[in-house]
Amino acid sequence: MTRKEFIKLCGILGISLPFTSAIQACSNDDNNNMVNSSNFDGKVIIIGAGPAGMTAGYLLAQQGIDFQIIEALPTYGGRIKHTRNFTDFPISLGGEWIHVPNSILPEIVNDSSVSISTQTQGYDLQNDLSGYFNGTSLELNKLDNHFGNDFADLKFVGSSWLDFFETYVLPSAQSKITYNMPITAIDYSTDEITVTASNGQSFKADKVIVAVPVKILQNGMISFTPNLPTNKQQAISNINVWSGFKAFIKFTTKFYPAYLSFPNSESAQGQLHYYDAAYAQNTSDNILGLFSTGQPAEVYQNLSGDAQRDYILNELDTVFGNNVASSNYIEHIVQNWNAEPYANGAYITSYEDSEQVEILGQSISNKIYFAGDAYTTGNDWSSVHTAARSAKRAVQEMVG
Ligand SMILES: Cc1cc2nc3c(=O)[nH]c(=O)nc-3n(C[C@H](O)[C@H](O)[C@H](O)COP(=O)(O)OP(=O)(O)OC[C@H]3O[C@@H](n4cnc5c(N)ncnc54)[C@H](O)[C@@H]3O)c2cc1C
Repeated sequence: MTRKEFIKLCGILGISLPFTSAIQACSNDDNNNMVNSSNFDGKVIIIGAGPAGMTAGYLLAQQGIDFQIIEALPTYGGRIKHTRNFTDFPISLGGEWIHVPNSILPEIVNDSSVSISTQTQGYDLQNDLSGYFNGTSLELNKLDNHFGNDFADLKFVGSSWLDFFETYVLPSAQSKITYNMPITAIDYSTDEITVTASNGQSFKADKVIVAVPVKILQNGMISFTPNLPTNKQQAISNINVWSGFKAFIKFTTKFYPAYLSFPNSESAQGQLHYYDAAYAQNTSDNILGLFSTGQPAEVYQNLSGDAQRDYILNELDTVFGNNVASSNYIEHIVQNWNAEPYANGAYITSYEDSEQVEILGQSISNKIYFAGDAYTTGNDWSSVHTAARSAKRAVQEMVG
């Protein structure tokens, strides 16, 4: 069954799902019980300090287990990085919405004594407008008329996924992160595992959690000795990772609805939406977001500089008319995820075979574990919450 078929099944069963993700409502396989205390007292190396790597470190710290996180870049966060330099609220350059109910936040924190002050807000389905442009005319309608009452994505208010991790998850893991250390090899042929970085430096551990994007493995950037099992190699090689591109454009006026969709907004080829990025934020800035994956993203990625900006403004002028976008334009920023050296793309598509995804998530020889948005039980993938849940599953499996 593909993930799309699974979403459809959820629909048949009458279970609400937001438009991009949230299969967890239908199956909570990755949402295990709390991690229990462990007898394991070895050393764990986590490769990658994105949401999965940070969550894994945090959960190991809760268990008092020795760990080290090794990160290729000079900073943590991976595909949830944000910028505070464009406007007066954080702009999420990758993961932005919460695709599941906000009970995911305490679930990640995994400690009922911690009170979480992070604010989130859903959309007002009966009042917020959505636009649908079929190529010739724009149809404005209430959000629920376009997306149905199942549209349940949440925005962070004045914060972001990265803020949440920085506040609640990172403090117990941050001092254990080694930066600027891209890992290129993992040798698990003996009891002691050796992890080697591009500069030749090596690290020893009893267990390793691989928390890098699956595209990094697909591109052969980390070698394994012995080779990964054949079915794992095949799953890694066959999985399709969409391209990813976002842009944020500041305008003098807000001429756009909460969401703008096109006939190809959600298809097997990819995703494309413009949206009010300032929705629910306490700001006077008008910021329109462009979110695109797969083939639609490649259209923007194939352009650069003024040509890229003009293409976007022309696209908006065509939809809204009267040169409203180009005449109200102030400035913009873009984020091309394919050009990120340790992401190489966005995330695996919604159309993958769940059995193949399940193989991606399987551990090897009680030594190598996988945590990240792609390494799940095969019922949900490609989101921050799936990355965090897979980290919990990996730690739980490791500590027994
Ligand atoms: C455009 C876009 C929009 C998105 N929108 C949403 C959204 O709205 N909601 C949502 O829930 N999710 C969204 N996502 C997905 C979400 O960002 C990811 O699912 C999530 O970040 C995955 O976390 P991760 O820890 O598995 O991987 P990452 O966040 O990619 O972290 C992996 C870390 O590993 C490091 N690394 C890579 N290679 C190596 C190496 N060789 N050695 C050492 N370190 C390495 C990387 O630098 C990175 O820090 C979006 C993603 C993109 C690209």
